[in-house]
Amino acid sequence: MALTGIQILKMLPKTNCGECGIPTCLAFGMKVAAGQIEIEKCPYVSEEAKATIGEASAPPIRTVKLGAGDASVTLGGETCLFRHEKRFEHPTGLGVLITTAMSAGDVDGRISRFNSLRYERVGVMMKPELIAIKDSSGDQGAFTGLVQKVLDGAADASLILMSDKPENLGAGAKVCGPRIPLLMGADSNNAETLAAMAKELNCPLGVKGTNVDNAVEIVENLLKAGVKDLVIDTGARTAKGLLEDNIVARRSAIVKKFKPLGFPTIAFPCEMTDDLLMEAMIASLVIAKYAGMIILSDLQGDVLFPLLLERLNLYTDPQRPMVVKEDVYPINGPAESAPVLITCNFSLSYFIVSGEIEGSKVPSWLLIKDTEGLSVLTAWAAGKFGADMIAQFVKKSGISDKVNHRELIIPGYLATIKGELEEELADWTITIGPREAGHLPAFLKEWKPAK
Ligand code: SF4
Repeated sequence: MALTGIQILKMLPKTNCGECGIPTCLAFGMKVAAGQIEIEKCPYVSEEAKATIGEASAPPIRTVKLGAGDASVTLGGETCLFRHEKRFEHPTGLGVLITTAMSAGDVDGRISRFNSLRYERVGVMMKPELIAIKDSSGDQGAFTGLVQKVLDGAADASLILMSDKPENLGAGAKVCGPRIPLLMGADSNNAETLAAMAKELNCPLGVKGTNVDNAVEIVENLLKAGVKDLVIDTGARTAKGLLEDNIVARRSAIVKKFKPLGFPTIAFPCEMTDDLLMEAMIASLVIAKYAGMIILSDLQGDVLFPLLLERLNLYTDPQRPMVVKEDVYPINGPAESAPVLITCNFSLSYFIVSGEIEGSKVPSWLLIKDTEGLSVLTAWAAGKFGADMIAQFVKKSGISDKVNHRELIIPGYLATIKGELEEELADWTITIGPREAGHLPAFLKEWKPAK
């Protein structure tokens, strides 16, 4: 059962030294109880207390890691049913299936698309993380050869090995070395063998159930055998079944504290339809509803990009806006005669505005004012982007030393503060810029300093 902050406090040194980054042990205990900080951040807590608190404060969905270094992915660790209750912790891993039955060209194409389909959005690199390698023929040499090919060709892929033959899984895992793969999968017949193998090779193990009840039975056996890191496939191969199973698993783990379903799930839209768009729809459905990993039959930009974007939107922390640092950003190599613009530090605003300036090819200075991640109008309404605050920031930013003019271009939506800002920045001319970032290139190309 979860411990309260006071119960955790009793196990802390109570010296209030602050080395954990929190001023008091009580505040630290409260944060540990709320799952906002790891108990390991206190260097003075005993190993015994760590074990007790760690067990009690472990998330209801176990955190499972595969791979190593750049080729690693972390799944699970979830603590809530709905994003607005707290946040979702580890984004659904997206991947592609490669099998020993595919031609070399098909395999190469998938590896190449895995490496090339990457998109930067609001400063975040969005990409697939997983390659599932399936042993279709039972030929160990062909399987390990394919595993090696993927290891060599996709340097940052985390691997899922799929075979009906435990010995082939073991051989494939040995080829992976430190890039620890997920072994798929343990069923009612081979659970004992695979449990021993997963423990020996220190690999997480995938459970291959025929339905939720069967998956629970296998998980219970694996837990008894001492395997801790599991990923569950409930066997559902319809969109409705998959959705239901994922919801049942998450609710059981979080609301009922039912441990056998407290693991990340894996979905195989690649085995559910031949239609790539239908696959994308199923994937989209279960990104929203709790899939830990999703394996697609192929990676195509028009399908992958919206899935990555959906994932990005769901897995941002609703309590922490995405922000960029307050600063002066030179864009396109500005000289001292270049225009000076200002906007808020909401990531999306920054990346849209800086993208348009960059696209205009007009060398410019962009001032980013800390508005605590609020967008222009919201920040203004919240009193974080008013004339006095903008003036204060402009004065301390050092921009006056970088330019030979005194003209500040403000967002069109802030037109009402022009007069007030002119009073605050008496030696500056305030120019109202466009309302929409899309109109910035034309505006900047026409711009001439006023004084
Ligand atoms: Fe208390 Fe440990 Fe934090 Fe120091 S580091 S304040 S002892 S919890």
